[in-house]
Amino acid sequence: MANQDDFFKKVVAHAKEYGFIFPSSEIYDGLAAVYDYGQLGVELKNNIKQYWWRSMVQMHENIVGLDSAIFMHPRIWKASGHVDAFNDPLIDNKDSKKRYRADVLIDDHIAKIEEKVEKEVEKARKRFGEAFDEAQFRSTNQRVLDHQAQIDSIRERYASLMNDSDLAGLKQLILDLGIVCPISGTRNWTDVRQFNLMFATKMGSVIDDSDTLYLRPETAQGIFVNFLNVQKSGRMKIPFGIAQIGKAFRNEIVARQFIFRMREFEQMEMQFFVRPGTELDWFRHWKEERLQWHLALGIPADCYRYHDHEKLAHYANAATDIEFRFPFGFKELEGIHSRTDFDLSRHSEFSGKKLQYFDSELGESYTPYVIETSIGVDRTFLAIFSHSLREETLEDGSVRTVLGLPAMLAPYKAAVLPLVKKDGLPEKAREVQHMLMRDMMVQYDEKDAIGRRYRRQDAIGTPFCVTVDSDTLADGAVTVRHRDSMQQERVAVDSLRQYLMERL
Ligand code: ATP
Repeated sequence: MANQDDFFKKVVAHAKEYGFIFPSSEIYDGLAAVYDYGQLGVELKNNIKQYWWRSMVQMHENIVGLDSAIFMHPRIWKASGHVDAFNDPLIDNKDSKKRYRADVLIDDHIAKIEEKVEKEVEKARKRFGEAFDEAQFRSTNQRVLDHQAQIDSIRERYASLMNDSDLAGLKQLILDLGIVCPISGTRNWTDVRQFNLMFATKMGSVIDDSDTLYLRPETAQGIFVNFLNVQKSGRMKIPFGIAQIGKAFRNEIVARQFIFRMREFEQMEMQFFVRPGTELDWFRHWKEERLQWHLALGIPADCYRYHDHEKLAHYANAATDIEFRFPFGFKELEGIHSRTDFDLSRHSEFSGKKLQYFDSELGESYTPYVIETSIGVDRTFLAIFSHSLREETLEDGSVRTVLGLPAMLAPYKAAVLPLVKKDGLPEKAREVQHMLMRDMMVQYDEKDAIGRRYRRQDAIGTPFCVTVDSDTLADGAVTVRHRDSMQQERVAVDSLRQYLMERL
C-alpha cells in the first residue's frame, strides 16, 4: 500500500510538473477538489473526448449529439428525483472532526477483505506453480470461502440498509464491523445524516425560493428533456441514442484522490432509447461494447472489471460499473444503467407534455425505455495517465520516466529537434515542423543536449522524436526515434508525414 501511495503521489506531481493538471486557484491556496487542466492536460483531455465522440456518434448512424445548457428549469430536478434523493449518507468522526461517506467506509472495509482473498490466491499461485487451478482454489480453500462468506453477508445487509435508507442501521453496521477513522483511529462516530449533493444558485434579479436553480449534477437530464426535439427534428427511429459531453457539478462530501472525485467535472453520457421489453438485450449489448471501447486503447484487460450492482436505484432494472485498477485500487470508471421508462415518464408527468414515440412498425405509441452509458472524462484521464506513467532502468543504469500514452491520445504526436543549434539545422527543422503542423500537434525544441530533449518528450508521452542532423541537409532524411522502444530509423523527409500518420 505504501508503494501505491508513493506511486500515486508521483502521478500527481508529474501531472503538475509537466503542465497536465494544476490545483485550481493555486496562488490563493487552492479550492478543494477543483482542478485546472494545463497546456498538455487540455490536449490529452480533448483527445479523450474526441475518441469517445468519434466512436459513439460518428461511428453509429443511429446516435446523434447534443449540447444542452447547464442551467435548466428547476422542476427538472424535482422530476428526476435529485431534489429529494440525490443524497450521500455522511458520518463524522468526533475525534478527528473528519467527515466521511458512510457507504464509502463500508466499501473500503469490503475492499480490504477482498485484498485478503487476493493475497491468499497469490500465495497459492506461487506455492503450486504451473499446476495451480485458480477457480478450484477459490471454490474450495477454507480461508477464501470464509472471507467470501463475510463479504457476502456484509453486502447483503448493506444493500438492504441502503434500499431502506436506514441511516441508524448504517451507523450500526459501521460499529459492528469495527470500522475506525483512518485519522484518529477511533470508533467515536456521529449519527449518519443525508446530504444533498446539488449546488444551488439563483437566477435573475428577484430573489425568492422559486428562482433557485441547480448546477446540473449529470448531463443526462438535458438529453431526456430534449428527447422529442431531437427525435422529431432528426426523424430518429427507435432504437437510437443521444450523446452529450459536458460539465457536471456535485458537492462531494469526501473529495480526495485528486481528479477521481471532483466537485466540478465532465461527463460523456449516451442515452439509448429502445422498445420496452428489449432493454435487457440492449443493456448487455452496451455493457460489452463499452468494455471494448476501453480495451481498444491497448490497456491490458486485467486493469478492468465489471461490478454488477447488488443495490439497484429505484428506476433501474439492471446496472453495472466498469471498474478500473487505479493506483488506489479498483474503482468505478463508467456506469451502464438500464433506466426503464422512469425519466421520460416523470418528465411527462411533471411537464404535462407527452414524451412518447409512435412506432410505425408496431403501429403503436409507447414511452421508450433507456439504456445509459455514463463515463467521467476526468476519471478516464486519471486511468490512462496513471497507467501510462512508468520508470524504466536502462542498460547503463540510468532511469528514464516514460508516459506511455496511447499514441492517438498523446498531446504531441511528434517533436522536431535540430541536433545542434547552428549550421542551418534549426531552419531545416522549422521546415519539417511546419510541414507536419497541419496534420498533428508538433513541438519544436532546440534547447539542451539531444538526450535531455528525448527524456523531456518521453515524460510527456510524445510517441515520435524527429531529429534533423547535418546529414539531413545532404540526404533529405531525418532520424525518427520511437518513444517506447527507443529504436531509431532513418526516414526521408518527403515520406515523413505519411510514415507518422500510418503509425498514429
Ligand atoms: P461514485 O459512486 O464514484 O460517486 P457515481 O456512481 O455517483 O460515482 P454516476 O452518477 O454513475 O457516478 O456518474 C457517472 C460517471 O461520472 C462515473 O462513472 C464517473 O466516471 C463520473 N463521476 C461521477 N462523479 C464524479 C466526480 N465527483 N468526479 C469525477 N468524476 C465523477
